[in-house]
Amino acid sequence: MTLRFFDTLSGTLRDFEPLRPGEVGMYTCGPTVHDFQHIGNYRTFLFEDLLRRHLRGKRYRVVQVMNLTDVDDKIIRKAAAKHMTIGEYTAVYTEAFFQDLRTLNIEPAEVYPRATDHVGDMVTLIERLMEKGHAYELDGSIYFRIASFPPYGRLAKLDPKGLKAGARVDADEYDKEDVRDFVLWKAPREGDPVWDTRIGRGRPGWSIECSAMSMKYLGESFDIHTGGVDNIFPHHENEIAQSEAATGKPFVRYWLHAEHLQMTGEKMAKSLGNFTTVRDALAEGYQPRAIRYALLTGAQYRRKLNFSPDMFGAAESALRRLDDFVARVRAVPDSRPGEPLDLVSPTQAAWEAALDDDLNLPVALGHLFDLVHEVNRLIESGSLGAPAKRQVLELLGDVDRILGVLRLEEQTLDAEVERLIAEREAARTSGNFQRADSIRADLARRGILLEDTKQGVRWKRTGP
Ligand code: AMP
Ligand code: ZN
Repeated sequence: MTLRFFDTLSGTLRDFEPLRPGEVGMYTCGPTVHDFQHIGNYRTFLFEDLLRRHLRGKRYRVVQVMNLTDVDDKIIRKAAAKHMTIGEYTAVYTEAFFQDLRTLNIEPAEVYPRATDHVGDMVTLIERLMEKGHAYELDGSIYFRIASFPPYGRLAKLDPKGLKAGARVDADEYDKEDVRDFVLWKAPREGDPVWDTRIGRGRPGWSIECSAMSMKYLGESFDIHTGGVDNIFPHHENEIAQSEAATGKPFVRYWLHAEHLQMTGEKMAKSLGNFTTVRDALAEGYQPRAIRYALLTGAQYRRKLNFSPDMFGAAESALRRLDDFVARVRAVPDSRPGEPLDLVSPTQAAWEAALDDDLNLPVALGHLFDLVHEVNRLIESGSLGAPAKRQVLELLGDVDRILGVLRLEEQTLDAEVERLIAEREAARTSGNFQRADSIRADLARRGILLEDTKQGVRWKRTGP
């Protein structure tokens, strides 16, 4: 199957053809660093990770640009409340964001431009818009004239009759009821950070940053632009207007939007107070990979996903079953003869076809679990030989280049833990069960679970 994506602008599934063969330029709207990001935000960032991993798996060279919004209405308000500069205020949350990306095993983008480092590029873009009559100044602010750009509203499917051309909106975020000339540059206000520029003193509006930075790093036309569905209006609608009005070229070839993570039927959002963070989940003792797995695989990215209190626990159980599976496959002796397994190559093909079909990871996983089921059966009957073992481990390796959660390496223990296990064995043999139990509890706290079997003691990792 050819790779295809649901493109929000055309409203259809479209075969993917990049501008330049073998290369993909993608822009992914990044965090507004006004607070810790919640797990809804990470659902979107994990969808983007899936997209980039699948493209790379298909041998595309990917250049991903993710911006850091480090100046906007919210940041200014919160920094002022703490008597900090926006730079001081955002440093903590920027660092936390990168830490969370590592926790969730999200592959780094190639470029992370900060809005405050690109005000000059935004000014140049605004000048181009003014020269072409798409922007005008009023009381020190500069607005985009939506009436000058007839395709305005196509992405968000706005009714052209509802457009209030000539009326203005100054906020960074607003609803579809407020479709107006939007602000590109904001006149200085008491307490705001300001830049002295050729277009005057002030600061940029939100959406201009993504037009300026995406085109700077990816060119005036590029392949993929993504975000959560809340970015469609006004942010991405405004990006299209700013970019295409300035360049006269199509801005983006494919617009991909991830549906929301919801809590109690509503979008998870800072402003609604119904959110939880990666940090909260870690503090509750969940493994990082369980958070990744739950948010990544809970639903195809264009479907809403409901938060449930046991979603990370359920993900941990699923991963434990996969760990056990890997261990069982590994335990098949390399000397055991046998036939290769016919099922592996169709599973590989079905996995890839499901991902090619608009990144349908739940369907891809269904194919994987069918194989797991069958291989488990063969292991139980002692009929999985070494050739099939190698095939299955190779397939799991491919799968994990997307999932990023499996423990495929031979698990080893450090010397201290080995010593404790031996000490516990000795304590048990000599009847010192109190000592044996206390060592067992100590190891459990370190994420190592001991099981006493007929063949002796076995261990499993339960922790990170
Ligand atoms: P922000 O920091 O608000 O700019 O958001 C960063 C990214 O998270 C954007 O792509 C948003 O569309 C996305 N996002 C915000 N809330 C949610 C949610 N509840 N579920 C999924 N993605 C979200
Ligand atoms: Zn953006």
